[in-house]
Amino acid sequence: MCADKLTFKGLYLIFKDILEVASLAIIDMNKKITIRELSAQELELLLRDDQFNRLRPISCSECENKSNFSRKVFEVKGKSLASDEEARNLACYHVKNTYHYEHVIWKTLEKRYYLDSAICPECDSTKILYDIDISDELLETASKLLKIPTSSIKKNIESILKSSQKKLN
Ligand SMILES: [Zn+2]
Repeated sequence: MCADKLTFKGLYLIFKDILEVASLAIIDMNKKITIRELSAQELELLLRDDQFNRLRPISCSECENKSNFSRKVFEVKGKSLASDEEARNLACYHVKNTYHYEHVIWKTLEKRYYLDSAICPECDSTKILYDIDISDELLETASKLLKIPTSSIKKNIESILKSSQKKLN
């Protein structure tokens, strides 16, 4: 492309990606929160982690598709994140607005913070419900430890999940 033939729109399209990356770098100067989208390679590795994937996309709210969701995950960094709910909400809000995601799930793994989002392959919706993958073995262990029936443990976990999703969305 010749430089002298560049229109403003052309320039915008070329720099759009760069601008978006730049705007993602620091979202709050005071709280020093940074957000970065994981590369395809990093994402592949992370999705292999059982702990990360325990809470996973299970169903599209728009078309009820239940499989093959594509994922986009962001790593969020900032000293205040562990204690500051406002900081976490800010990160969530930023990703949702920049990428137009309806649902973004906050995850913590080995002191790293992530925002996990999914896209439906059938209808492109980002309104994807997540659910926890709890093995029977895990339930039974918890049941023995807490002396509570497995069914009520499952119910408790589900209600905690629902309220945390409501808070973030
Ligand atoms: Zn769908």
